[in-house]
Amino acid sequence: MHKTMKLTPKQIDYCMQCGMCTGSCPVSSEISGFSPRQLIRRTMLEPDTGLIQSPEIWSCLGCASCSQRCPVGIDFPEFISVSRRQARKAGNLPQESHHGVLQLIAELQTHAVKQQRTAWAREAGAFRDTGEYFYFVGCLPYFDVTFRYLNLTPLETARSILTLLNRIGVEPVISNDERCCGHDALWSGNESVFRKLARWNLEVIKSSGAKTVLFSCPEGYVTFKEHYPKYFGKLPFEVIHMTEFLVRKLPESNLSFQSSSEATITYHDPCRLGRLAGIYDPPRQLLQLFPEIQILEMERNRENSLCCGTIAWMECSSCSKTLQSTRLQEAIQTGAQTLITACPKCQIHFRCAQSRMESDLKVVDLYTYLRKRLRGEPAGDA
Ligand code: SF4
Ligand code: SF4
Repeated sequence: MHKTMKLTPKQIDYCMQCGMCTGSCPVSSEISGFSPRQLIRRTMLEPDTGLIQSPEIWSCLGCASCSQRCPVGIDFPEFISVSRRQARKAGNLPQESHHGVLQLIAELQTHAVKQQRTAWAREAGAFRDTGEYFYFVGCLPYFDVTFRYLNLTPLETARSILTLLNRIGVEPVISNDERCCGHDALWSGNESVFRKLARWNLEVIKSSGAKTVLFSCPEGYVTFKEHYPKYFGKLPFEVIHMTEFLVRKLPESNLSFQSSSEATITYHDPCRLGRLAGIYDPPRQLLQLFPEIQILEMERNRENSLCCGTIAWMECSSCSKTLQSTRLQEAIQTGAQTLITACPKCQIHFRCAQSRMESDLKVVDLYTYLRKRLRGEPAGDA
């Protein structure tokens, strides 16, 4: 079993100081003085103190715009993630957003707490305690409570997914004992919380007998796909993103959708689903199920998509707010009436940004958008 993640040479030693990363970084364009190139240089010159003691270590969004373009393949987000563990140990801590409530919720889940996180599912459809497919709901039940003030119901995503799965003949396992995947703990340097959450999840999934775990949250997906195996070895189940699963299952299902009055939409690629997991086409293929709808791409799309501005519920700064508003403006500029998101956090951040600006743009989660257009389902205004 993996003890402590170490930096590999790829993570900085091959850096040529070309500056492509800084030129690609959305934070560098908003915070003067923040530069991934400079942070690497500083780490090389002062390995023990440079980056580890600096406040800039918490400004990186882990969005991978830099690593996407780095000519020698430096994995700067991973370098930052590993360095944050050292920073935390040295007493350099991030500014937690929302009074740290989401960090507290994650920490509580590292203990043997009894959760009540499946009430929504009992009303939404059929699910099981054991079975072939496990639907990893992630933090949606907690987001649903935390972000009510934004007039958002993140559990609508889970309800929509359960409806879609049931309609293609899948009754997934949904568990009261599931935990946060640990993504935010990992990316904020809290390796011990990450490990404990991951162990709970592996145990819960193992005891369900599931062979396939389905994820709607891009962060959960990428954490299970990339990080769980690094820490715990090969997983005894397959990890699939919900968009890929639906695209795969649709031809053999009898799902049919009604035409939509919504004429124009645009799609935001979440960093973790796009640049980190390489999933660009499946969400678009699902949206193409409605031929009457025009999909208008934003200028920055797919590999070039702009991050929604925050990571791991920390350091929500004027930079975050500017990036959120900029992305919404990019969506508005396409002329689309609706912005489709495939990540609950992107939806939350965009909705928060909308509370500070005038806009008629609707921000709608992909799965709710699909479910409301299913034949036989009550149509809504999503
Ligand atoms: S793009 Fe890559 S090689 Fe160039 S400065 Fe950044 S990390 Fe170094
Ligand atoms: S991961 Fe994103 S925010 Fe962090 S340095 Fe790279 S481009 Fe900038």
